[in-house]
Amino acid sequence: MGKVVLVLSDALGYDAAVAGMGYLGHLVEVKLASLYKVIGELPSMSRPMYETVHTGLAANEHGIISNLVVRRSTKPNVFQAAREAGKITAAAAYYWFSELYNRAPYDRIDDREVDDDTLLIQHGRFYTQDDYPDIELFATAGTLVRKFAPDYLLVHPMGMDYMGEKYGADSSEYRNRAILQDMWMTNLIAEWVGRGYSVLVTGDHGMNADKLHGGTTPDVREVPLYLIRPDVAGKGDTKEVISQLQIAPTVCKLLDIAIPATMKQVPVA
Ligand SMILES: [Zn+2]
Repeated sequence: MGKVVLVLSDALGYDAAVAGMGYLGHLVEVKLASLYKVIGELPSMSRPMYETVHTGLAANEHGIISNLVVRRSTKPNVFQAAREAGKITAAAAYYWFSELYNRAPYDRIDDREVDDDTLLIQHGRFYTQDDYPDIELFATAGTLVRKFAPDYLLVHPMGMDYMGEKYGADSSEYRNRAILQDMWMTNLIAEWVGRGYSVLVTGDHGMNADKLHGGTTPDVREVPLYLIRPDVAGKGDTKEVISQLQIAPTVCKLLDIAIPATMKQVPVA
């Protein structure tokens, strides 16, 4: 029975991850993890890519074409597929995830903390401020695992995006945030893998030196995918380039649930 934690670090570019994330780099080096380079879909904006990562569909197919499309997902997605298979779902994430999979528009009182079996994200802990501390977000994720043992947990820190949009990708603040996120994740990843979770770490998009993302250049399109599995050896740095559309079917496969027919790309694992 597969369990999955997906860490979707907002604006975690490939170069910043590989340069800064020392524990994940260690797991790659000793072949306990597999590292892939993901070519992100377009536009390299947040809400469209949240939906792409969870549906395996491009923006023109799922319809969330900009950050300003505020509605629930209408396509088969990871949360829905997990719920239909009777799995427990959870997320510690920005409130746009609540809007995509629970309720839209977001009510910051009613929707902030939910434990409701009828929702697609059954155990949700959401935040609305872009400078919400990553270390608190990771702690919330750790609590969700210990308290509810969800089959699928989304962990979505905003710190890379916040630092990138304030200082740019070519800044110590952006680069160092990758080091800090890696440090804050280290013990959690060890615990989660010990509890039988497959852990994936990726980004929705990257960041450019001009303090933005949204365009088509490699700095905003290329994100990492680290995959650590509980009882399966990693492949180290695979040097493989994969599509962002492969993430959703990969998560479904790792959860041991049926992959929706709309997720047409080949799973990575
Ligand atoms: Zn984003």
